[in-house]
Amino acid sequence: MNILIIFFFIIIYDKIIDKRLGEMIMVNKKMYELGAQKSKIRELFEYGEKLKQQIGSENVFDFSIGNPSVPCPNVVSEALINIVSNTNPTLLHGYTIASGLVFVRKQIADYLNKTYDLNESYEYIYLTAGAAAALTISLNAILCEDDEVIVFAPFFPEYKVFVEKAQGKLVICPTKKDTFLPDINMLDKMVNEKTKVVIINSPNNPTGVVYHQETIINIANLLKEKEKKYQHPIFLLSDEPYRELIYSNTSYPFITKYYDNAIVNYSFSKSLSLPGERIGYILIGANCKEKDIIFKAVNGAGRALGFVCESSMFQYLIPYCLGHTSNINIYKENRDILYNALKDIGYQLIYPEGAFYLFMKALEDDDEHFSNVAKKYGLLIVPSTSFGMKGYVRISYCVSKDTIINSLKSFKKLYEHYKVGD
Ligand code: PLP
Repeated sequence: MNILIIFFFIIIYDKIIDKRLGEMIMVNKKMYELGAQKSKIRELFEYGEKLKQQIGSENVFDFSIGNPSVPCPNVVSEALINIVSNTNPTLLHGYTIASGLVFVRKQIADYLNKTYDLNESYEYIYLTAGAAAALTISLNAILCEDDEVIVFAPFFPEYKVFVEKAQGKLVICPTKKDTFLPDINMLDKMVNEKTKVVIINSPNNPTGVVYHQETIINIANLLKEKEKKYQHPIFLLSDEPYRELIYSNTSYPFITKYYDNAIVNYSFSKSLSLPGERIGYILIGANCKEKDIIFKAVNGAGRALGFVCESSMFQYLIPYCLGHTSNINIYKENRDILYNALKDIGYQLIYPEGAFYLFMKALEDDDEHFSNVAKKYGLLIVPSTSFGMKGYVRISYCVSKDTIINSLKSFKKLYEHYKVGD
């Protein structure tokens, strides 16, 4: 009898394995795995939606996702009405050339040149479906098999996915412990003949730190030396969805001014609160050596990935919106309330000058466990392991001011949970 039961389970087990293998054979294994594992951020967000139904949305403080909470500026809706009313519909809804409408790209180049005192050309601008598409197109355009891409930890988790899909190898460079800024000595040790790209992201997700001129100059000088030593270009790729979201009296330097082989990946997702519309661009810097070849490779990568002709209606929108942002003072106010309150409770945090994230030290080494304990108090905060660094959590403060204020008692209880009995 027992043997029969074991036999029965073996058959069922085999059937399950066969089904899994069947799935693996029919689809790309790597893609299957990527789709089957949700990102930590999405997992928490979906958990939060269910929890709200169970215990009421007023008891759930969802700091998981970076979805702008401030509406887009009026200029967006006004311009869209104007565009829909006054543009020939076959043009408005038709295909554009793969890299995007020339007059739109010219306006972007003019705006950048005036604002940052540059000499960029529309001929090296490629319109994309946000920064995600810009990143994956740029990386596929540049990388050859086993080229190394350096990122600074903590980093936006999708970098790993995009780099590996482009056949590259992700190399993680630690940042300075006290500031989360790139550690130039570490970078010096990590750049080698295989290094093809260094990705920087400022204002930073997940820390909110902004790279100032000194940091950019130090990175640029080091990479120039390394280019000479290894006799090939090393691209500095600046991922900039948060460029305008800075709350102090400073701005993020424009990297093409400091380094020749520079590529900018820009997005309107956060600055204009349009993440669902998917609009951004790639700019190959004016002094980039071989910029014509790179631009052709960008077109080729766009073609291979199916990212040709960014949404036509939103291409038409861009000229109206250059230089505008959503009301970022709302994020600043959230940042100030949350940062000060958490500091007063006793948490250790890095002061964020920009973006809409706070990076907070977990109250135990295991950030995943800390995030799970926080759930008991209705707090949804993302463990830092998913950003390539242990021991912290990311708090997205692009939520309503009420959510922030009402969450503070839960943050206090979470702190007491760990500290009482210390
Ligand atoms: N890069 C970073 C650092 C981000 O935080 C995000 C989105 O949150 C992206 C890229 C992708 O942005 P987009 O919505 O423009 O694709």
